[in-house]
Amino acid sequence: MIKIAKFGGSSLADANQFKKVKEIINADESRKFVVPSAPGKRDKNDEKVTDLLYKCYALASAEQDTSEVFDKIYGRYESIRKDLNLKTDVKALIKEIKEKVDNGATIDYTASRGEYLNGILLAEYLGLKFIDAAEVVFFTGHGVLDAEKTNTVMAKRLQKYGSAVIPGFYGSRPDGSIKTFSRGGSDITGSLVARAINADLYENWTDVSGFMVTDPRIVPETQAIKYITYKELRELSYMGAAVLHQDAVFPVQQSGIPINIRNTNAPEDKGTMIVHKIDPEHQVDTMKITGIAGHKGYCAITIEKSMMNSELGIGRKFLEIFERNNILFEHLPSGVDTMTAVLNQKAIQGKLDHVLQAIQDELKPDSVEFVPDLALLAVVGHRMAKSAGIAGRIFTALGKEHINIRTIDQGSSEINIIIGVDECNLEKAIRVIYDAVKN
Ligand code: ASP
Repeated sequence: MIKIAKFGGSSLADANQFKKVKEIINADESRKFVVPSAPGKRDKNDEKVTDLLYKCYALASAEQDTSEVFDKIYGRYESIRKDLNLKTDVKALIKEIKEKVDNGATIDYTASRGEYLNGILLAEYLGLKFIDAAEVVFFTGHGVLDAEKTNTVMAKRLQKYGSAVIPGFYGSRPDGSIKTFSRGGSDITGSLVARAINADLYENWTDVSGFMVTDPRIVPETQAIKYITYKELRELSYMGAAVLHQDAVFPVQQSGIPINIRNTNAPEDKGTMIVHKIDPEHQVDTMKITGIAGHKGYCAITIEKSMMNSELGIGRKFLEIFERNNILFEHLPSGVDTMTAVLNQKAIQGKLDHVLQAIQDELKPDSVEFVPDLALLAVVGHRMAKSAGIAGRIFTALGKEHINIRTIDQGSSEINIIIGVDECNLEKAIRVIYDAVKN
């Protein structure tokens, strides 16, 4: 049995958190490979080391003094080193990084040093080998992850050592320069490590006990989801239920390795298991759905034209207008004589008049309607596909509360229903739906 344990920034924010991490690693000898983030916030008003590093880069590019911010960074690592009695020469390492940043090092190099330094300290503290991610995570010259090269080289290195600490968030390009993933990207490194060593489990340790069924600010009694499929997760993450980086799912999904979201501050909690398929014995969640997530900031353009269903090519022409204007569409609910494109409101800013005019000219619809300030909410659950009546319950409940439904879209896999409501109704709609499907 081999497990990968990835620890997020808040799990490694100070020496006390490092101690919890050590206890977790020591509690299970199958936790062989550890992937750390950079130190995160110790409390609400604190700053993440990665943010401080981005500040250093901005100052250096404006040819301003970086000393004060580097001193803060030094303070963070030095207090960890001192409290844990480690020998790593933090001062020398930070001095070297500062010199490079002051002399024009790239933004990616600068940002990656948070994970790099934390990895060195954690490796010493755990008594494990440190493997620099630049030697095992590869990007192409265009900055796209080279998943196959990464997998081959990493697998060899990991097998050689049998256990190690590999810092998250970055790798290297063919010319050796450092390239980072997007923010939160240590999750991806963890996933790549899990795939390379063909792990039995990828544990992702953070500061919550898993994915909540819905936003606890709206439904305080909501609980963590015990089992969720990769597909359901994708639907919920799309709506902003963010615990895990979106791109972290693919590498492990491909190899069928489950991800377990765990809480460093409550290691006794079992967290959420993200799996390919939920076996009957794991059908432990009692709700009819898996999760509800919502997001504001959408709008919709609806066209109506009689006999639209027999007009060949109208859908393509409608979408082409968005494509030409570089606007992604989110959903496309349609009726017999209507078609609606749900869009991100920001994406259409400054282009609306032009797009509406093009629709008039090219499609000659009977009417065009623009609806601003929408929220979308996704009700997600694999059990919905098999049980009749869930949609009925949802819409009845919304109707009773006089929440006007602007759009409805059910994915063909039937694991989600996406509902558009006015932004001001989002929170109420989530609460109402939760109550309607809670058992
Ligand atoms: N430290 C990076 C960030 O703050 C990457 C990560 O934490 O995964 O985004």
